Amino acid sequence: MNPIDIIIKKRNKLELSYDEIKYMIDGFINDEIENYQMSSFLMAICINGMTFDETYYLTDVMLKSGDILDLSDIDGIKIDKHSTGGVGDKTTIALAPIVASLGVKFPKMSGRGLGHTGGTIDKLESIPGFNINLDEDTFKKNVNEIGAVICGQTQNLVPADKKLYALRDVTGTVESIPLIASSIMSKKLASGADVILLDIKVETGALMKKIDEAIKIARLMVELGKKYNKKVIATLTNMSTPLGNMVGNSLEVIEAIMTVKGEINNDFSELTKYFAAHIVSLSLEIDIDKAKEMVDATIKNGNAYKKLIEFVTRQGGDPKYIIDTNNFEKAKNVIIVKSKNKGYINNIEAFKIGHLACRLGAGRKKLGDKIDYSAGVELLKKPGDYVEAGDELLKLYTNYDTDDSYILEALDAYEFSDKAANKELIIDTIM
Ligand code: URA
Repeated sequence: MNPIDIIIKKRNKLELSYDEIKYMIDGFINDEIENYQMSSFLMAICINGMTFDETYYLTDVMLKSGDILDLSDIDGIKIDKHSTGGVGDKTTIALAPIVASLGVKFPKMSGRGLGHTGGTIDKLESIPGFNINLDEDTFKKNVNEIGAVICGQTQNLVPADKKLYALRDVTGTVESIPLIASSIMSKKLASGADVILLDIKVETGALMKKIDEAIKIARLMVELGKKYNKKVIATLTNMSTPLGNMVGNSLEVIEAIMTVKGEINNDFSELTKYFAAHIVSLSLEIDIDKAKEMVDATIKNGNAYKKLIEFVTRQGGDPKYIIDTNNFEKAKNVIIVKSKNKGYINNIEAFKIGHLACRLGAGRKKLGDKIDYSAGVELLKKPGDYVEAGDELLKLYTNYDTDDSYILEALDAYEFSDKAANKELIIDTIM
């Protein structure tokens, strides 16, 4: 075999065999296939697509490129969750204690943030002492004993994806349905869970801008899961506007705590409860209405909150921040931004708010940058709300000195209408 023949075959829209795909991916990881050849191969996939079998072969080869976690010594059904990335998405942090308090096992490896979306691991590290570096034995012990663990990804989980993603990022080949599906599913399958919940973000603030593309990718990932006897549930959720009211690391942790305690009722708490009910229904094999009741009850009776304290404490986090969120360090500067318009808020562009939060200090521009846990944005109004000119729209939290450009950027994210917007948060669920 040689890489040129395989690239030409893909360019000519012919179907590749398992061995041909393996030859390309293994050769790339072992530095036998050059970056420029892999770039050309990826572009051919991007333009011509892949059949289901090709996508399955690619997923399988990637999955087997590194360690595959064996979770068989954790009792019960294990759940994993993946979000394709959104602004204000702190769902995992609230979901873990809620479902664990109902006896579900939630062993979760998460990533750091880069660019306009934050990472779960960074958010959790805003709790002083919280340790995301767990060895495999501690990881399994914690899941067995308390049900929930959230830690960083091990280095050798799907190394093929790390190398391929870095190349895709700089060659215009991220937006490809088979490449996205194989990238996500290889990592989820390597993490060893029995049930995989995928939150596929759609619209302007997301990688997938179009609903029909997101549906295709969701169906593909559900089918790939079946090949490995995994239950996959894929939900399409709206990411035109940030999720919840808080964007920024400790701000998002505070919103997650309030959700677990049942203290807020917004789009974020709605989505968290929706996912929690589906996870409970699938893992305990009970009907969805019963699962919803159990989720509401565990929040109401305080069991989810107790589990949150147990989970944070077990991973070294100081529980005093959970018990009283006023203990979180506050940003030096708080800027209140007021509306110049009157009318209904039609949209708050997620990408722009994510970008603004980064500028305020909440995100990284490049890997390794330090982030300011207290920086971020609090949305005081959300789409559907009516405002008069002069009403407070949002608060900016930062330790930097700011100028008017921050306020202008915040206002630029808002779109007004003379009618109340009615965007559905949960677009579709595919199983
Ligand atoms: N998220 C991933 O993990 N991989 C992709 O290709 C796109 C989003």
